[in-house]
Amino acid sequence: MEKNCYPRLLCDLSLLLQNVKAVTTRCHALGIQVTGVTKGIHSRLPIVRQFVSGGCDQLASSRLEQLKALREAGLGLPTMLIRVPMMSELEEVPRCCDYSLHSDLSVLEALEEVCARQNVTHKVILMADLGDLREGWWDQEEFLAAALRVERALPHLELAGIGTNLGCYGSIVPTVEKMETLAALAQRVEEAIGRALELVSGGATSSFPLVHQKTMPKKINHLRMGEGILLCYDLQKLWGIRGLDDISNHVFTLQTQVLECRSKPSCPVGKLFLDAFGHAPVYEDRGIRKRALLGLGKLDVGDIGDLIPRDEGVLVLGGSSDHTILDVEDCPRAIKAGDLMEFDLNYPTMLFLTARDVFPIEYLGG
Ligand SMILES: *Cc1c(COP(=O)(O)O)cnc(C)c1O
Repeated sequence: MEKNCYPRLLCDLSLLLQNVKAVTTRCHALGIQVTGVTKGIHSRLPIVRQFVSGGCDQLASSRLEQLKALREAGLGLPTMLIRVPMMSELEEVPRCCDYSLHSDLSVLEALEEVCARQNVTHKVILMADLGDLREGWWDQEEFLAAALRVERALPHLELAGIGTNLGCYGSIVPTVEKMETLAALAQRVEEAIGRALELVSGGATSSFPLVHQKTMPKKINHLRMGEGILLCYDLQKLWGIRGLDDISNHVFTLQTQVLECRSKPSCPVGKLFLDAFGHAPVYEDRGIRKRALLGLGKLDVGDIGDLIPRDEGVLVLGGSSDHTILDVEDCPRAIKAGDLMEFDLNYPTMLFLTARDVFPIEYLGG
């Protein structure tokens, strides 16, 4: 990669490996397998390799094309599709992954036909909606009937397990009670089919606090984790979970250059109308303030307001497709054109920054 090419993303692979190990060690100690979820970093291979080295048991993404690439890379771990597939994707599902999550019986019936035609068997995990209102069966009897149908009548599908997802759409906390509901449901499925399930999947990063606090019910033996390994911003900074200091928030560093830095009024001057995106923003008049203009924009990170400046006293004001504007009046460091500014990422900025092949990522350590 060219030097001095900004904006760019640094990824510290050694720190990442520590993070993976910190999570898998805690989970494995309680008999919980960890699927490393790689959709947030576009399944970039140097990053995924740390998931493998750090002890993840499977790899997962929401996108089939990423799973296909992971399989072709020959990383030695089973792969899992964690967004329930579209009807139109079924032909590719067994070709791209070993497991997939499901929430609709007609999709499962169609997948059975595909697998029969391809002469393969495929592992499925049935999702129960425990209140977050995204994917999953709502009615437990209907859920049970679907599980039985897969077990008894769909010979090319293997009922590998059941799972749930919380805290994504509905912002529902994965409490011990929710996990006990899932465990009880798993129990009922196992009694109905007369054997143990391979996986009882208790959710994503948001379920990890129960592992960390050792309150996860025994029956839960699987988590699907992305954010908590890659950033751990949510659990540490938003949830305020203590004792996670061995998981670093600084695996990623976004760097870009200052284009100009000068004092200007904090309110635009003239007749206010609409910005470049058709919105009418509100500006707070704080008088004359020092502002830094950066080469970085919505094209790179989606929502500029998600950026987390590393420097103290720096405020993100906004920007446009290719510009970001910071208030640096209270920053102790003198800032001038050509200087570098650094940012931590949250999930959406990481998602945007890693998605475009043209965006430079420099890997350190590893
Ligand atoms: C994205 C996703 C995950 C991983 O979520 P994190 O918060 O990154 O750990 C797990 N399960 C499902 C179904 C998902 O869609």
